[in-house]
Amino acid sequence: METAAPCREIIEVIKESGGEAFNLCYQCGLCDAVCPWNRVRTFSMRKLVRQAVFGLTEIEEEDLWLCTTCGICPKRCPRDVKQIESGVSLRRIATEYGVFPASAKPVSAVSASLSGEGNPLSEGREKRAAWAEGQSVKTFTEEMDILYFPGCYLCYDPRLMKVARATAKILNLSGTKFGILGSKESCCGESIRKTGNEELFKRLARENIKTFIENGVKKILVSSPHCFHTFKNEYPEFKVNFDVVHISQYLLELIGGGKLDFTKEYKKKVTYHYPC
Ligand code: SF4
Ligand code: SF4
Repeated sequence: METAAPCREIIEVIKESGGEAFNLCYQCGLCDAVCPWNRVRTFSMRKLVRQAVFGLTEIEEEDLWLCTTCGICPKRCPRDVKQIESGVSLRRIATEYGVFPASAKPVSAVSASLSGEGNPLSEGREKRAAWAEGQSVKTFTEEMDILYFPGCYLCYDPRLMKVARATAKILNLSGTKFGILGSKESCCGESIRKTGNEELFKRLARENIKTFIENGVKKILVSSPHCFHTFKNEYPEFKVNFDVVHISQYLLELIGGGKLDFTKEYKKKVTYHYPC
């Protein structure tokens, strides 16, 4: 069993990521009571916090990777212990040591694919705009209103490519002047950051930011909530601020502005759920 303890390094990394809040924990256990994992299996954030306070984190344990960063327990914690940020900082240590439990082993292949091809799916960068072949989709230029950024899965997954094509069709119908940057785009980096690979996240973010600036991008339309969150809330860490809009918001805007009409009635109430 590999234990990084007594672990000055863990404590330092936790501090750097705002994880000093770990020390505020008084072990009430509310985080475990609300965590969705405990409906299907046992997982204790409270225990992770306790171990981290004493630098006794076992970095090869699967528990380090179980938190989905859903955000429930940080909202309910009476001591404002920043479980997500601090949990990610623990993963950063495991990533630095290259220690992964069996269930987290794919992280290495995903990281390699992101480094080499800018996507987590081991697909070629040059195929990033394949979904747009035969569609009325242009390359983005500065005069256009919006950069459409479909995100990795809509660019490569055969079923989700249909969503990118449908989006392009709607944008064209509404008269939106939009374009894509295809193989110049890289993954937004949100998920790899959550694995603790901060360096790779920064590299991806800088590549995208450079591409956006060089191409005169001001407004970005996204299909993925991961891209939305990252561009809007995390890229400003690099001193940039793009106008970011999610397709669900933009559609509402188009309908409200009379640029998109329904031609048929659909007699159902629909809830939009992004199935990430
Ligand atoms: S809810 Fe907060 S204070 Fe309570 S055990 Fe969890 S981290 Fe500690
Ligand atoms: S943020 Fe993580 S530990 Fe907290 S409730 Fe969600 S999955 Fe559980």
